[in-house]
Amino acid sequence: MVALGLLLVLVLLMRPALHLLFTANRDVDERTPPPPGTIDDASRLNRTAVAEVWPVPPTSGAERELAAVLERARELGLPVSIAGARHSMGGHTFYPGGLVVDMRPHVAMELDESRDILRVQSGALWSDVIPYLDARGRSVAVMQSNNSFSVGGSLSVNCHGWQFDRGPIASTVESLRLMQADGSIVRCARTENAELFSLVLGGYGLFGIILDVELRVVENERYRLEQHVVPLAQSLATFDRRVDGEPDVRMVYARLCIVPDRLFDEVIISAFFMEAGEVPELSGRGLPDLRRAMFRGSVGSDYGKHLRWSAETEIEPLLTDKSFSRNQLLNEGVAVFENRTEGSTDVLHEYFVPRTGVVAFVKAMREIIPAHDADLLNVTVRSVNRDEDTFLRYADQRMIAFVMLFTQARTEAGEADMRTMTRGLIEAAIAAGGRHYLPYRLHATRDQFHRAYPQARRFFELKRHYDPNELFRNGFYRTYGAE
Ligand SMILES: Cc1cc2nc3c(=O)[nH]c(=O)nc-3n(C[C@H](O)[C@H](O)[C@H](O)COP(=O)(O)OP(=O)(O)OC[C@H]3O[C@@H](n4cnc5c(N)ncnc54)[C@H](O)[C@@H]3O)c2cc1C
Repeated sequence: MVALGLLLVLVLLMRPALHLLFTANRDVDERTPPPPGTIDDASRLNRTAVAEVWPVPPTSGAERELAAVLERARELGLPVSIAGARHSMGGHTFYPGGLVVDMRPHVAMELDESRDILRVQSGALWSDVIPYLDARGRSVAVMQSNNSFSVGGSLSVNCHGWQFDRGPIASTVESLRLMQADGSIVRCARTENAELFSLVLGGYGLFGIILDVELRVVENERYRLEQHVVPLAQSLATFDRRVDGEPDVRMVYARLCIVPDRLFDEVIISAFFMEAGEVPELSGRGLPDLRRAMFRGSVGSDYGKHLRWSAETEIEPLLTDKSFSRNQLLNEGVAVFENRTEGSTDVLHEYFVPRTGVVAFVKAMREIIPAHDADLLNVTVRSVNRDEDTFLRYADQRMIAFVMLFTQARTEAGEADMRTMTRGLIEAAIAAGGRHYLPYRLHATRDQFHRAYPQARRFFELKRHYDPNELFRNGFYRTYGAE
C-alpha cells in the first residue's frame, strides 16, 4: 500500500517534468520560408506572389531612392505596400503582383534628452529602441506586450499595450514625416496637416510611408508586482478596489483561465507598481526555454493547460517580492511562445468592449469558443483609454481589450472553422458596444467591418483623396476599402 502511494506521488511529480521534456524535445523549427517571388506574414496563411520586395537602403540617400522607387512603381502601374516586421496577419503588408517596400533597414534614432523626445526611423524594432533608451534612463511610453514589432507597423495599426491609464500609441506621437504617393515629404502633427496625422496613425499604410517619428518617451522605472488570483465574478471588483485609481500603478494585465473544464472561472490580475530604489539592469526575463515549453505544452493538451495555469497561479505569485525595470518587462520577443510547426499556426484576435459590455462579452466568449472546439491558448485583458487622435479609432471611449491566441490547422478546414468562430466573436463584440482589432485575420464580413467602424467609408474616401491613383494598396484595402 505504502509502495503504491509512493509510486503515485512519484508519478504525480514526474508527470509535469515528462510533459515539459516531451514538449521541448518535439519543439523543432519546421517552418519553411516562402518560395522566391512570394511573401507571407506572421500568420503563414497568406502566401502571395509579388513583383518585388525592395529593402530601403540604410544610407543617407534612402529618401531619394525611395522616391525614385515610387516613381518607378507609378510608371509600371505597380501597387505599393509597406512592410515592417510583418506581424500583421491579413496580408496587410503586400498586394498580389505588387511592390513591397521593406522598411526594416531604416533604423536610426536619436534622443532629445531635454524634451524627452525620441526621433526614430520607422523600420526600427522595439528590441532596437528599448536598449537604446535604457542606456539613457528612458523607456517607451506605449507599445505592445512584445518587442518584436517595428515602429512604423506599430504606428500604422495604432497599437496599445498594458501600460496603465494610457491610450494607444498615437497619444505619444509628437509628429511624423510621411512620404506621399507622389514622392513628396510632409510633416504631420496635431497642428500641421492634422487630418493626415489622424489618418496615417492607425492608417494601415494606405496614406504613405512613415519615414520617421518623434515619440514622447518616459522614465525607466523600478516596479514591484502585485498579483490577485480571483474568481471571474470578483475580478472587476478586485480591479476597482486594488488597481484602478491607485497612484503608483504603471502596468496592468489580467489573464483568464483557459483550462477547458474551468474555462474563465478564475482570473489572475497582475499589476506593476512604481517603487523607489535602484532600477534593475536590462536583462532577459529568465528561463525562456522552460517558459516556452510550458506555453507550447499547453497546445492541444488539457493537461498542459492545467499545468500552465497552476504554474501561473501558484509559482508566479512567489515572485511578487521581485523588482523589475519597466524596460525589462517590455523587452521580450515573441520567440518565447511562437508556433514553429509546419501543420499549424497561432492566430491572434482582439476585441475592445466598453466596461458596460464586459459581462455580456465574456458570456458570449464562453459559449462561442467551446462550441467551435477551438484550441484557445491565452486570453489577456487590458484597459485602454479613449483615443483622441486617430480617425479609424477602435477606442472611442475607455475600452477593455480581450486579446486571445488560438492554434489552428493550416488547412482549408482550419481556416473555415476559424472564420466562422471569428465572425461570431465579432458579432458579440459589436453587440457589447465594441469592435474587433484590425491587424489580424480579415475574417470580418464587409458588413461587420462597417458596423464596427462606421467611419471607415469616409476613411477610404479620404484615402482616395490623398492617394487618387491608389498607389498604396494591401490586403486590408483589397478586402474592405476598394470600391
Ligand atoms: C504575437 C503578437 C502579439 C501582438 N501583441 C499586440 C499588442 O500587445 N498590442 C497591439 O496593439 N498589437 C499587438 N499585435 C499586433 C501588432 O501590433 C501589429 O501586427 C503591428 O502591425 C506589428 O508591427 P509590424 O512591424 O509587424 O507591422 P507590419 O505587419 O509590418 O505592418 C502593419 C501595417 O503597418 C503598415 N506599415 C508598416 N510600416 C509602415 C511605415 N513605415 N509606414 C506606413 N505604414 C507602415 C503596413 O503596411 C501594414 O498595413 C501583436 C501581434 C502579434 C503577432
